[in-house]
Amino acid sequence: MSSMLPVWKLSMYNDFDSNEYRRDLQELKDRIEELMKSIKDDSLWREEPLKILEEILPLINRSFDLYENLESYTYCRYSTKTDDPAAMSELNKLEEESLPLKQAMVLFNNRLAESATGPEDWKDSSVLKEFHFFLEQSLKDQKYQMSPAEEDLAADLSRSGGSAWSRLQETLSSSLNCEWDEKETKTVTQLRLMGSDPDRAIRQKAWKKELKCWESCETAMAASLNGVKGFSTTINSRRGYESTLQKSTIQARIAPETLDAMIESMKESLPDFRRYMKAKASRMNLNQLSWYDIIAPLGSDSRNWSWEEARSFIIENFASLSPSYSDFAKKAFEESWIDAPPREGKVGGAYCISFPLQEESRIMTNFDGSFTDISTIAHELGHGWHHEVLKKAPSLHRDYPMTLAETASIFSEILVFQSYYAKAAPEEKTTLLESSLSDSNQVITDILSRFLFEKELMERRAEGELPAEDLKEMMLRAQNATYGDALNPEERHPWMWAVKGHYYIQELGFYNFPYAFGQLFGWGLYSLYEEMGEDFEPLYRKVLGMTGKASAEECAAAAGIDITKKAFWQNSLGMIRRQIDEFCAAE
Ligand SMILES: [Zn+2]
Repeated sequence: MSSMLPVWKLSMYNDFDSNEYRRDLQELKDRIEELMKSIKDDSLWREEPLKILEEILPLINRSFDLYENLESYTYCRYSTKTDDPAAMSELNKLEEESLPLKQAMVLFNNRLAESATGPEDWKDSSVLKEFHFFLEQSLKDQKYQMSPAEEDLAADLSRSGGSAWSRLQETLSSSLNCEWDEKETKTVTQLRLMGSDPDRAIRQKAWKKELKCWESCETAMAASLNGVKGFSTTINSRRGYESTLQKSTIQARIAPETLDAMIESMKESLPDFRRYMKAKASRMNLNQLSWYDIIAPLGSDSRNWSWEEARSFIIENFASLSPSYSDFAKKAFEESWIDAPPREGKVGGAYCISFPLQEESRIMTNFDGSFTDISTIAHELGHGWHHEVLKKAPSLHRDYPMTLAETASIFSEILVFQSYYAKAAPEEKTTLLESSLSDSNQVITDILSRFLFEKELMERRAEGELPAEDLKEMMLRAQNATYGDALNPEERHPWMWAVKGHYYIQELGFYNFPYAFGQLFGWGLYSLYEEMGEDFEPLYRKVLGMTGKASAEECAAAAGIDITKKAFWQNSLGMIRRQIDEFCAAE
């Protein structure tokens, strides 16, 4: 099947040594140099601080556009061929090129904080008024900044420290494979994809082999996790954060009470999700689900989608929001924005990445024909549409936080599901419902376990290194706290901390709750869409358009939603509970 799946066209650059690539790289260097010169100009800052700010902001925007474009291209090349030394070396080089830009931003924050201008003065300048959110944010960030020399050293060390651990995790996991039978070997990504195989014996075999794979590299993975988390702990405390979690809520642009309201509501909903998992077990004639049953499809008639079917399904169902949404999806398919086939050396999972200079996106996925894959493409296209809504916005206004980054993608998944579900034949409905609940279960029950795990990990890592044994025990405890008696205690996944690359991103602690936020915020917006019908799309665009220049609370308020209160989260979880009730009643 893989041979019939499309590979993306990275038409923005021919190669790393093409004229276009070299030209953009050179311009990036020039702009950063110019930017640095302006930032360092003492006399201008003293005499005309507003004028220099007006000069600097467009330079920052252009530098970030160039960098993002080059990095997106390089990452696309690297992630589909992790064993390609050219892409790997270019990624390292680019990271080096970005250091002066990071340095410039640190200096800029300092200059701004020291300067005699403040929000009152910005009102008189149209440029500064436009960027007031960014400027105020810079003043806040400056409070959590070390001295320029220390930030400089930290950025330098991060290449062989924090981010090197993340690359080690990626390289190790993309090269893991095992003997499946006498004829065939399988990569760990392929084994994980088999978690949705209809045949329980195959799923169980894949799960056992997968665990063996992770076990074989657990020492290196544990060292890598300890390395990256130790790095984060040191840096974050030096910067004056109370904790990595505090930093994460600031990065996520949510108030602590918003996170509490959401996590508490999620905990309260666990009995519903366990009820669903028990009903699923009984449908499968099991006493209890095992780890490898969690995402298993129900029923033997689970459909295998061809690429062409996936394509027309998505385009057709996107039309229920608006024609422009559907046209956008069509463009992504027609213009080869999507890389679909799984292959050796390609990283697992899926992502969407943007090319601001071309005003285009690219989507990487590992398609194997299940409904989950359709949902994944809809999800990534949602990200793409978020980029599309913001494509004319300057770089500084496209910089949205992790929480809001998942809004458009989850909304897109829900939309595709709901419109298809409404039209589906009765015999198809149970399978679809189960597939949607299986996703929600991942995003609520599993994400909560990852959040609990990471919270304990950060607390204990501050005291010292943790051996793989402890990490496994902590992971099992976190799984127990959320899955509880709905999951066979003998057959779980103690190595999930090695599987998920999210734990290894130095700058992003707790890259788990934003998914739950996105899912529940998405459901909240969807319930609004149900109320408003076609009047919803302009409001939705407005919310997405604000994501790069407002807090999550302000974006939500634009749609009349108060996310600091449990009532909002309970309403979203209530929409999922209705699906659970329907699923259990159909038994
Ligand atoms: Zn996403």
